[in-house]
Amino acid sequence: MFIVFIGPPGVGKGTQANMLVEKYPMVKISTGDLLRESIRDKSVLGERAKGFMERGELVPDALVIDLVNEKVNSTAASGKSYIFDGFPRTIEQAKELDNLLESRSSKISVAVDFSMDEEERIERLSGRRMCPSCQRTYHIKFAKPKNDLTCDACNIPLVQRSDDDESVIRQRSSVYWDLTRPLLDFYRKRNLLQTIDASRNIDLVFSDLDRFIQKIKP
Ligand code: ADP
Ligand code: ADP
Ligand code: ZN
Repeated sequence: MFIVFIGPPGVGKGTQANMLVEKYPMVKISTGDLLRESIRDKSVLGERAKGFMERGELVPDALVIDLVNEKVNSTAASGKSYIFDGFPRTIEQAKELDNLLESRSSKISVAVDFSMDEEERIERLSGRRMCPSCQRTYHIKFAKPKNDLTCDACNIPLVQRSDDDESVIRQRSSVYWDLTRPLLDFYRKRNLLQTIDASRNIDLVFSDLDRFIQKIKP
């Protein structure tokens, strides 16, 4: 099973992907997390990606596709299902993902469209905090850590992502509208699109998502 998560920044994709991985034996491929790890490791790819991410632009397709290819190839033996969180983000990436899956005699099972209005989404982003070690995300109001602003798992102080700054948030939202939103039609035409109301609380969104997943489970 190959599940794709599509949605604007802050809508809750990462949160839901993490909950799925806790419940089911699935591999999560979050290109945002992988890119941030590359930057932290000071790899060549990370160095190339850094400026794009800081400006809220998309990292060039070729870099992201390499990263995904590598991750899929290194985990394929597990036979697990996959969740792609924040990938594909362009039509080009979607086509490359189709090619990659086709070469493994597989295809996308469902594309989940996370939808909600802008204002609350901005509140989610501005209150988001991240563990710099395990990348788990929290929220100062909606998903508080057990102890004041430290990671439940790592017990170290949470940080705010530098691209969760107001002007970069605006840029990322506009990139979503221009380059990523066309993917909804791409998947709708193939009858693969499921829209989820992402404005509700974390557990309600998860129960909807879980229901979709149960339905498509082989
Ligand atoms: P968001 O909270 O917007 O979903 P992510 O953590 O998914 O943030 O992505 C952070 C940044 O990483 C993006 O603004 C972009 O620069 C880069 N990025 C992540 N995934 C991709 C992708 N599939 N293609 C291009 N750039 C990506
Ligand atoms: P994305 O990966 O789509 O950018 P995240 O999963 O990082 O989004 O969520 C953005 C912020 O909103 C995080 O701080 C997260 O804790 C919080 N959040 C996620 N889902 C919900 C929800 N359903 N209700 C309230 N806050 C949420
Ligand atoms: Zn942590």
